[in-house]
Amino acid sequence: MTDTSAYPAAHTLEDFRRNLAQVHATIAAACHRAGRDPAAVRLLPVSKTVDEARIRLAYAAGCRELGENKVQEAHAKWEAMRELSDLRWAVIGHLQTNKARLVARFASEFQALDSLRVAEALDRRLQAEGRSLKVLVQVNTSGEATKFGLAPDQVPGFMRELPAFSSLRVQGLMTLALFSSDPARVRPCFVRLRELRDRLRQDAPAGIGMHELSMGMSGDYALAIEEGATTVRVGQAIFGARALPDSHYWPGLAAPDSQA
Ligand SMILES: *Cc1c(COP(=O)(O)O)cnc(C)c1O
Repeated sequence: MTDTSAYPAAHTLEDFRRNLAQVHATIAAACHRAGRDPAAVRLLPVSKTVDEARIRLAYAAGCRELGENKVQEAHAKWEAMRELSDLRWAVIGHLQTNKARLVARFASEFQALDSLRVAEALDRRLQAEGRSLKVLVQVNTSGEATKFGLAPDQVPGFMRELPAFSSLRVQGLMTLALFSSDPARVRPCFVRLRELRDRLRQDAPAGIGMHELSMGMSGDYALAIEEGATTVRVGQAIFGARALPDSHYWPGLAAPDSQA
């Protein structure tokens, strides 16, 4: 588990510029080690729990996309900042079908698709809104029972069902790695997602894209980039340490010490 005290809080425009520069430098260094082009890695800042005033500072520092774990929180922020018309919102947490309507209204992307019921609900709501939505399929690469996402061996069959939902633009896979400070335990999760993506790419159904790999967070994004991440979802390294424990977002998560 990462030592969250290592993440400096950002309360001023200068703070955000400094933290963002630091993260971009880490991305560039990881790309260099892996022989990858930094332009091929998208930074998605994650603003969950962060209030509107600080989000506006992040926007002023250049953020034009934000990831949020909880749909209602995301929707409320979108409403409050609608006049920032070039700011896009990605929902990156588990969705219940009764909230598909909200996602269909405002989100630019949904990274946690993990059931046909949610696919069906989203597709129906999107049709009603006259919109389409970029989606990633969430895969449980750590084998932890408490994590959301499909088991890797369920994904090929799942993918074959998705062309039926014409408002969903499927573009790849998302995962949360094992929470551990030991790279030897984290890295295999990222490798598993990349290998799954590569296999799926061979025979993806028409209209189903398989280029995106959304993996890596504040504690492990350099590792994820080394293993092929095309999107990294980084919260605390940009906004500062969160007060709430991660178990608030991933119910059932054991205490950090028992996982390291
Ligand atoms: C909170 C969250 C992140 C970012 O985690 P940090 O530790 O703040 O970088 C990434 N992905 C998901 C799904 C999250 O909920």
